[in-house]
Amino acid sequence: MIATKGYAAQSAKTPIAPFNYEHREPGENDVLIDIQFCGICHSDIHQARNEWGNALYPMVPGHEIVGTVARVGSKVKKFKVGDIAAIGCMVDSCRECNSCKGGDEQYCERGQTVYTYNSKDKLGNLTWGGYGNHIVCDEAFVLSVPKNLDPAASAPLLCAGITTYSPLKHWNAGPGKKVGIVGLGGLGHMGLKFSHTFGAHTVLFTTSASKIDDAKRLGADEVILTKEENWAAKHAGSFDFILDCVSAEHDLNTYLALLKRDGTLCLVGVPEKPATVYAFSVLGRKHLSGSMIGGIKETQEMLDFCGKHNIVSDIEMTSYDKVNEAWERVIKSDVKYRFVLDAKTL
Ligand code: NAP
Ligand code: ZN
Ligand code: ZN
Repeated sequence: MIATKGYAAQSAKTPIAPFNYEHREPGENDVLIDIQFCGICHSDIHQARNEWGNALYPMVPGHEIVGTVARVGSKVKKFKVGDIAAIGCMVDSCRECNSCKGGDEQYCERGQTVYTYNSKDKLGNLTWGGYGNHIVCDEAFVLSVPKNLDPAASAPLLCAGITTYSPLKHWNAGPGKKVGIVGLGGLGHMGLKFSHTFGAHTVLFTTSASKIDDAKRLGADEVILTKEENWAAKHAGSFDFILDCVSAEHDLNTYLALLKRDGTLCLVGVPEKPATVYAFSVLGRKHLSGSMIGGIKETQEMLDFCGKHNIVSDIEMTSYDKVNEAWERVIKSDVKYRFVLDAKTL
């Protein structure tokens, strides 16, 4: 077994704290990674605090993982010791259903997606995430990070990156399209970078006046401050696609009103409480949809795209002794724009 030290939540109400645990001994298809960096995703907080009602404790969060390959099983082909490798939100799936075979393991039709943490593997063992110094994973779910990208700033690509890249691609964000991104956090800032790079006219909706200049630097053609009174009326019916990256309760009807006929509001943010949607808001043949991360093949495609276009996250490095503080700052929308934990501080 691989003795590992990390940080875990023991309950919804306690701060996360140091925790020792074990990963399985790497099997013939497995890669052992010495974790260097792990991003802090708002999903870590939702899950540790049981805001989605599915928490399994002890929970070692973290699914934006970059590190170096320390050992490979006898059948591993893609990786060798010393490579920079990455793991995102999934570590296994049934691999046999149409979704899994088609590269959409996150939509496994048998419900057998194994998440990186807060999940059970095929043997029924709890999975442990990236807030630790090691992880063991089947090479089929391990990604390669382009050599030209900074490893720490690449870590958030594994969740915030793919979660925004996948729907923007699916709904054809590109030249001639008007795309809105709601919320400038970890996901939102990657959404701006991708939408802009894909060539769409990109508009940010934010509650934070202090983020306007950054938004323009990150790729927004326009920034709309949603704290201003009657801000929405003049933009009604003008958007092809809106990607909602907000982590807390907010009114979806306002954003549905901004769509053109046949336009789509896609939710990627997952607030704790359900939203109310009036039928009138979608009667203009509007679509309300959602999207979950992205498959392994598409995640590698996204990483390669980032390598080609030199795209990484804007990060603030932090240390494990400050991780609870960092979580509080994420909740206050006070991070520019993703915290990354340095495993050297464990
Ligand atoms: P984050 O960094 O905390 O960003 C969330 C942003 O939402 C904030 O920066 C803020 O932007 C805005 N916001 C916060 N509270 C708000 C409120 N009360 N009203 C309006 N806007 C508010 O979070 P994240 O890590 O990007 O994650 C965002 C959400 O996506 C979370 O719910 C997370 O669990 C979810 N998620 C989903 C997937 C998926 O596969 N679907 C994957 C990863 C994460 P402004 O300051 O600009 O207003
Ligand atoms: Zn995430
Ligand atoms: Zn499947």
